Amino acid sequence: MSNAEYLTVKEALTAVLAGVSVLPAEQVPLLNALGRVLAEDVTAQDSLPPFANSSMDGYALVAADLAGATKENPAALQVVGDVAAGAVLDVMVEPGTAVRIMTGAPMPPGADAVVPVEDTNEAWRDQERSLPTQIQVIRSVKQGDYIRHPGEDIEAGQTILQKGHILRPQEVGVLASLGVSQISVNRRPRVAILATGDELLEVDQPLQPGKIRNSNGYTQAAQILALGAEPVQLGIAGDTETAVRQKLQAGLDANVDLFISSAGVSVGAYDVVKAVLEQEGNVGFWRVRMRPGKPLAYGTYHGVPYLGLPGNPVSAMVSFERFARAAIRKMAGHTQLERPTIQVTVQDEIDSDGRESYIRAIVSPTAEGFVASLTGDQGSHILTSLVKANALLILPEGRKKVEPGSQLKAWMLDWPETVLL
Ligand code: AMP
Ligand code: MG
Repeated sequence: MSNAEYLTVKEALTAVLAGVSVLPAEQVPLLNALGRVLAEDVTAQDSLPPFANSSMDGYALVAADLAGATKENPAALQVVGDVAAGAVLDVMVEPGTAVRIMTGAPMPPGADAVVPVEDTNEAWRDQERSLPTQIQVIRSVKQGDYIRHPGEDIEAGQTILQKGHILRPQEVGVLASLGVSQISVNRRPRVAILATGDELLEVDQPLQPGKIRNSNGYTQAAQILALGAEPVQLGIAGDTETAVRQKLQAGLDANVDLFISSAGVSVGAYDVVKAVLEQEGNVGFWRVRMRPGKPLAYGTYHGVPYLGLPGNPVSAMVSFERFARAAIRKMAGHTQLERPTIQVTVQDEIDSDGRESYIRAIVSPTAEGFVASLTGDQGSHILTSLVKANALLILPEGRKKVEPGSQLKAWMLDWPETVLL
């Protein structure tokens, strides 16, 4: 790769994604699979519900016995048994009889419907109440009423979830109901984070003249965690080649799947990351037509994919969002790699320089749709502009001015608590 190629955002993203592969599958306890991607189809071993059961507290009976039953003219039935959830009652429900039944209890043989307890003269709720010998039912029911049938939800043998499906709490619940306690998902990407610069201090150190604390390392670790991946903190390397080499070696020793560094990849006199990567890696240095976040390094370091982000905190975070997020999602087995966009109406005037721009904004719902206002100073060192933002507005390449009232696409970083639409 030649030095300082100029690329569009799309070209850079395509190249970054081409350099990472989907990680292999691993078997994990069900709950550890939350948010991860299924690596194989799941076939149901059981039907759900597994047996016919009552959907109400009431009486299991023969529907034909209740033909024409009303409040004025109730049907009388002999109560011949009682079945609670978790129990099995092997008493035959003959015409003229009924079995008291609780929600979730299996239907006794012979019964073809349930009548809710509210529709009898025995609208009891307390456990102590003894079983009546007879009940009066004040309505009719059809065959099958208030019965949950076996296999109504899931049939045994059915493919219930396909490879590639993302496991949310509801999928975890379905798998639990089918007795799946271990599940095959793509491995979590292990991502090394390296902060570089002689000016950097650890978060717990007091400020000193000329120094700032390493915020990028924390932002990036948090971004990695938020993606369900595993950050491996390599800490801070000062601006010497030896320091950078040593830290990167620690990442190799930790068997990471991806390196992400911040700073040291532009054209400053102390950009030693660049020097190390040129000697020992196969890394290209790009100028991406993107704002914020022009410099980007990409390639491999001793065979491991390497992404060098700019040092300015806003540029680093936005570049991560744009490139690292998609790469990490690909490694984790996702197929939807990029954030979905929504259409918003911009309230402020926006000026840019023609590079594809990611503008920090607050998007709010209104009766007319989503509206966006900017979070103020868009300098790439103004971290609070990201703190205030819940979205990034995307200004396409070539667009230098946006008038108030224009439509733009937005990436939601998070959603407002209330959506009025
Ligand atoms: P550089 O790419 O090394 O020229 O850095 C660009 C700017 O980002 C400088 O102002 C750095 O001090 C700042 N910077 C670099 N790394 C970090 C970091 N880890 N945390 C916060 N700011 C940083
Ligand atoms: Mg630097």
